[in-house]
Amino acid sequence: MTVTELVSYDEALATYDPVMGLEVHVELGTRTKMFCGCSTELGADANSQVCPTCLGLPGALPVVNASGVESAIRIGLALHCEIAEWCRFARKNYFYPDMPKNFQTSQYDEPIAFNGYLDVQLEDGEVFRVEIERAHMEEDTGKSTHVGGATGRIHGASHSLLDYNRAGIPLIEIVTKPIEGAGERAPEVAKAYVAELRELIKALGVSEARMEQGQMRCDVNLSLRPKGQKKFGTRSETKNVNSLRSVERAARFEVQRHAAVLSSGGTIVQETRHFHEEDGSTTSGRVKEEAEDYRYFPEPDLVPVAPSREWVEELRATLPEPPRERRNRLREEWGITEHEMQSVLNAGAVDLIVATIEAGADAASARKWWMGELARSANEAGVEPAALTITPADVARISALVAEGSLNDKLARQTIEGVLAGEGTPDEVVEKRGLAVVSDEGALGTAVDEAIAGNPAIADKIRGGKVAAAGALVGAVMKATRGQADAGRVKELILEKLGVEG
Ligand code: ADP
Ligand code: MG
Ligand code: ZN
Repeated sequence: MTVTELVSYDEALATYDPVMGLEVHVELGTRTKMFCGCSTELGADANSQVCPTCLGLPGALPVVNASGVESAIRIGLALHCEIAEWCRFARKNYFYPDMPKNFQTSQYDEPIAFNGYLDVQLEDGEVFRVEIERAHMEEDTGKSTHVGGATGRIHGASHSLLDYNRAGIPLIEIVTKPIEGAGERAPEVAKAYVAELRELIKALGVSEARMEQGQMRCDVNLSLRPKGQKKFGTRSETKNVNSLRSVERAARFEVQRHAAVLSSGGTIVQETRHFHEEDGSTTSGRVKEEAEDYRYFPEPDLVPVAPSREWVEELRATLPEPPRERRNRLREEWGITEHEMQSVLNAGAVDLIVATIEAGADAASARKWWMGELARSANEAGVEPAALTITPADVARISALVAEGSLNDKLARQTIEGVLAGEGTPDEVVEKRGLAVVSDEGALGTAVDEAIAGNPAIADKIRGGKVAAAGALVGAVMKATRGQADAGRVKELILEKLGVEG
C-alpha cells in the first residue's frame, strides 16, 4: 500500500467511524532499576550499569523497587483509577536479543491500577474524556545498535551491538479503553491525550517524560467500522511513536489507509506497524501475537504487591493540581486568552512565568519577557527557555528595575543580553555596562539646560504654549544621554524649566 492509494481523510470519515486505543510507556525517573540496585543514569558507558539480576543470570533474584511502585500508584490515582489491593507481576515470555532474561517482567491480568479516565481539552475548548483501562508496571529492555548498514536497521547490517544499561529500568504502561465517538477528531484527541498525559507525568515528578529521548512513547491502535455498526473493526498497532505531532499524523494516516483497504474490498490484518517521520506513513511490522503466545504466568521470584489503603491515601494527598485545571486557573489569574495560554504552553514557559511571578514580578511583565526576548533567545540557541542561563529571579529583578524607572525597555533588553552572555546578575550587568537610566537629577538637569540653550527657537515655541514642541527637546536629551534617561521625567523637567504647565 503506497501513499498514492490512500483515500482522502474526509472521504474516509464520510463512510467509517474510527476507534482508537492508546498505549503509552513512561520510563520512571527512579534512581535505580525496577528489580535491582543498578543505576538508571543516562549516558554511562555501555553495559556499565548491569548486574546478574538485570542480565538474567541463573540464580539471580529480583527485588521490587518501592519507589517504582509508589510512582505507579500516584500515576494511577492521578488518572482516577482504582488501586489494586493485591496484585502480582507476570512473566511475558519471548525472545529478543536486547532482553537477556528471555522474558519481560510485566503485569498481566492483575495491574496495579485500573478503571480510570483523563479529561483532555481540544483546540476548540471542548473537553473529551478518555477512559483508562489499566496502568501497569513493567521493565524496559536493553538497546540494540545495528552497525554497518546504510539505514541503521538490522537489514544490511554487518553486526549488532547490545547495551543492557536500559534493561530493567521501570516502565509504566498506560492503556486506554477503546476511544469511540471522536469521529474526525480522533487524531486530535490522540495528540491531546498524550500531551495531557505528559503534562500530568511531569507535574507528578515521576519522569521528565521527554518523548524525543524515548522516556515516553506511544503505540497507536486504530480500527475503522462502517458508520452505524457497533462491532469494532480489526486494529493495526503503530508502535513507538515518539512525538505529539507524530501521534496525530500516525492516526490520520491509518484512518486513510484502513479506508483504502476496506473500500476496495480488502481486509485489515492485525499487525504492528512502523511510523515514518519523513512522510508520515506507516509500514507493516510483524503480525501480532495473541496474548497466549506469550505464555504469561505469575512471576514466582517476586512477592505480590499489596499496597495498604493508608499508604494509598497518603499518596493521594501528594497529588498535584491537575495540569488542565492549573492552566485554567493561571489563565484567569494572568488575564490572558486561551490562545495566549496555548502559546505559553507551547513555548514551555508556564513554570518559568509562575516562578518569575513568585519572585516578585507582575504577570504581564513576566509573560512579556519570557514570551518575547527570552523565547527568541531560546529559539535562536535551539534550547528550551528553561535551559537559558537566566533565572526567574533574574527576570523578576529586571522587571523591578524597569518598574522603579532604573531601566527602560531598551536597557532591560541589554541587561538580559548581558545575563545570557554570562556577565553576571542583572545588577552586575547594569553596573559593568553602565546601563542604568540617568536618574541623577543634577546630570539630567544639565542635559536639559544644554538642550534648551542649543534650541532657542523651539524653547520659545514651548514658552508660547506649544507643549507638543517639547518632543524635539526630549529627543535631544535622550540622544545626549544615549537613551539612558527616563523620557517622562525629561519632559517634566523641560516644561518646569520653561515655566509651562504640562
Ligand atoms: P496489545 O498488548 O495486544 O496491544 P492491549 O490490550 O494492551 O493489547 O492494547 C490494545 C489497545 O487497543 C487498547 O487501548 C484497546 O482499548 C485498544 N483496542 C482494542 N481493540 C481495538 C479495536 N478493534 N480498535 C481500536 N482499538 C482497539
Ligand atoms: Mg500493545
Ligand atoms: Zn541490575
